[in-house]
Amino acid sequence: MPALEAQLLPPGLGALPQALTALPPRRDQVLRVTASDEDTGRGQILSSPSHQVDFWRHPTRPGHPADLRVPFHSLQAVKIFLESNRISYSIMIEDVQVRALLDEEKKTMMKSRRMERSTSTFDFASYHTLDEVLFALQNIHFVSLGGTGLKSPSLPVQFSTGGSKRPAIWLDTGIHSREWITQATGIWTANKVTTCPGNDPSVTAILDSMDIFFEIVTNPDGFAFTHSSNRMWRKTRSINAGSSCVGVDPNRNWDAGFGGSGSSSNPCSETYHGPYAHSEREVKAIVDFIRSHGNVKSVISIHSYSQMLMFPYGYKTAPAPDHQELNELAKKAVSDLAAVYGTKYTYGSIVDTIYKADGTTIDWAYDNGVKYSFTFELRDTGRYGFLLPSTQIIPTATETWPALLDIMAYVLEHPY
Ligand SMILES: [Zn+2]
Repeated sequence: MPALEAQLLPPGLGALPQALTALPPRRDQVLRVTASDEDTGRGQILSSPSHQVDFWRHPTRPGHPADLRVPFHSLQAVKIFLESNRISYSIMIEDVQVRALLDEEKKTMMKSRRMERSTSTFDFASYHTLDEVLFALQNIHFVSLGGTGLKSPSLPVQFSTGGSKRPAIWLDTGIHSREWITQATGIWTANKVTTCPGNDPSVTAILDSMDIFFEIVTNPDGFAFTHSSNRMWRKTRSINAGSSCVGVDPNRNWDAGFGGSGSSSNPCSETYHGPYAHSEREVKAIVDFIRSHGNVKSVISIHSYSQMLMFPYGYKTAPAPDHQELNELAKKAVSDLAAVYGTKYTYGSIVDTIYKADGTTIDWAYDNGVKYSFTFELRDTGRYGFLLPSTQIIPTATETWPALLDIMAYVLEHPY
């Protein structure tokens, strides 16, 4: 087993970030709304831009809850709307809790930064800024996706033990920038891959035959914005012609059912699909990479939250030709994930498990010949939502690892 080309070294002395987590406007609340079928239609009213409701979790099937962050100025109107339509809701997170969570997040980041400076080690149990993540990743052998033109380029890490154009697995975290548990899980996982070979025969076997490409900060501009200005930023930071609203949903921008009913044409929406497919440079860079590589066998795109493992399709209800096989693999992966700490995941196709979503990463990958395409929604189920405490980073990464390994080992054993 040849040695990996580099190890992840502790970053230690990265520059302090310019701005710490900025806070969203005061006195928002996160409401959990449980709607019946007909309510789901009426609930579309909530999506109107004037309410500025931010869907943390979209309405799914009847009886499945949606989580909405409602800005203070809309709270009264939204609650009146819900109550007058007899749509039941509960307050998931009060503003005071949101602020306490953000304060705690900031405090633990400061604390771990001090610890990292004094010990020259990387604290995997803390959230980090873009600069800190990039600094940590500088010590892993990487290939740059050409032409992203980003001020802070996203750098996919390449794990390879030699050869060229070997079968490859693509992993990405953080395409939605506010899903901080995903980038944190990504760093832990990248480190795990570098330290595993020699200790873990299954990783050794995978790396003996395949390359792994792992993009950890897939939406760097958005991620920087979650630190500098708005912790709840999901989209890219593209300027939209003719609109004052910024950003495109990079998981609705792919050329797979692009622009259908599972996305929005309104630039102010959190699920705005963009002016055309692959308009976002973050998306285009991956499309170009996968196409030019030509031998990517698996795409695993990691999101949060909801605890789900899904596979194509999201843009249509017809089952994917490989539905049965993907379903079996997902079943095994969530079972091995649950075996670690008992964390329960649901699994299935996107459209069956959550809702219709078009222009997603894994549908594009699947339609372009990448059979083993999966998307994770990591912890939790809404208690903290996107503000998952950093004490859960290592447990989340630890339990996700066997599920990732299941998929990678399966890909190795089932060449196509
Ligand atoms: Zn997401």
